[in-house]
Amino acid sequence: MLFQRLKYFTTRQFPILFLAATLPAAAWANQNEPSGTMLIAQLAEDENVEDVVRSEPRRGASQSKDTVKKTQEVPASGTNQADSDGKPVEAETLAVPATRKIAPNIDLKEVAPLPEPEALTESDLADPLPVVADEPGQPSEPDAAGTTEPALAESFSLLGTDIRPGTSTRLSWSPQIQIAGLSQVTPVLVVNGINAGPTLCLTGAIHGDELNGIEIVRRAIYDLNPEKLSGRVIGVPIVNLTGFQQGSRYLPDRRDLNRYFPGRKAGNLADRVAYSLFENIIRHCDMLVDIHTGSLKRTNLPQLRADMNNPDVAQFTRGFDRMAVVHSSGSPGMLRSAAVAVGIRAVTMEAGESLRIQEHQIEAGVNSLNSLMDKHGMISRMFVWGDPEPVYYDSTWVRAQHGGILFSEIGLGDYVSQGEILGYVADPITNAQYPIHSSSSGRIIGMAVDQVVMAGFAAYHIGTEAEVPEE
Ligand SMILES: [Zn+2]
Repeated sequence: MLFQRLKYFTTRQFPILFLAATLPAAAWANQNEPSGTMLIAQLAEDENVEDVVRSEPRRGASQSKDTVKKTQEVPASGTNQADSDGKPVEAETLAVPATRKIAPNIDLKEVAPLPEPEALTESDLADPLPVVADEPGQPSEPDAAGTTEPALAESFSLLGTDIRPGTSTRLSWSPQIQIAGLSQVTPVLVVNGINAGPTLCLTGAIHGDELNGIEIVRRAIYDLNPEKLSGRVIGVPIVNLTGFQQGSRYLPDRRDLNRYFPGRKAGNLADRVAYSLFENIIRHCDMLVDIHTGSLKRTNLPQLRADMNNPDVAQFTRGFDRMAVVHSSGSPGMLRSAAVAVGIRAVTMEAGESLRIQEHQIEAGVNSLNSLMDKHGMISRMFVWGDPEPVYYDSTWVRAQHGGILFSEIGLGDYVSQGEILGYVADPITNAQYPIHSSSSGRIIGMAVDQVVMAGFAAYHIGTEAEVPEE
């Protein structure tokens, strides 16, 4: 037991020691390169905590409108390119050839054939168009209820491919950062509904070790019937494919992708991945839900992180049934911040912890996405049970004041009162026990799982109920 504990301790600490020894020198040498110093910050503290701790406080409704106008007027930095005629270049033409394929209509519920071995190349464009399985674009039979016929959707172009109304398909996206001959493509699922409506985008595993989101995207998308859908749903279940394959949160260069949006075409590796995703996919979205989990052995009650100072975003959160909604203004470079800056309503959804598949968390995420699609008229749900409204929270983190082994007395979702003991940190050598008291009354919306901690570790995320945004 002692041996196991020691071994565990050593493997956990080694990478940190190693990085502590090597990285600061590199960062100091590059004082002018913000990404160098940023990298240290990312490794030292986790986004989940930083995001909340550094958030601007929530403002009153009267103050917020000007700010939003300002945010929306800001053009996407460095992305509005123009061609020689001064016409803006369509986002997808930046990365993919002009000749278009028509996407084959695939029943996403069927098991997919193995993917083609190569990414889209020029020789692919000479291939005959894939056979379209059925007659897309035909309106479905009018409802028995005799409701007014909704407007029919149009074909939709993504990644150089046309997706006809009433069809669903799998496409491939590649940020083109790997050795071309060895590069792998990232699957993109698209359901183009028969009827016109908004475009909802779902992204999972921007941090490659966050698995619940991958499953949330799969279930949400594979349950859709394109012949009944109004609008479109685009899902990228695994954005950070290299991280996913290595069980790592980061990109191959140890950068946190969710700090580099909207990216730069000729920037560092993370910039390029971010830029490619943002230009080729995200710009097509009206609404975006970027799905994450807690990190560094922390777990989250299913919740949204949303900038409640932005009335459009605040309004958007009302569509999510049974979610805890936590105000956080968002850090620069986050996908949701970059999306909101170009007028896309965007939130982060957090569900559970990294490196695990958690059924309850997944179910909560999928149900909430279904409620969102229902409220935007994209699908119609038959039954809604119980009390579906989202609950709004302001929040603070309670940190461990001592190093040792953390043992919690409370559980995720529990209600606690100010001063209550949440858990203990036990020093395994001196046998000292240090209780951790709650700083406020509220609900445990996130917490660390039992583990070895050092002083300053953010252990409990306490939410206190906040006002519901105005309609
Ligand atoms: Zn994440």
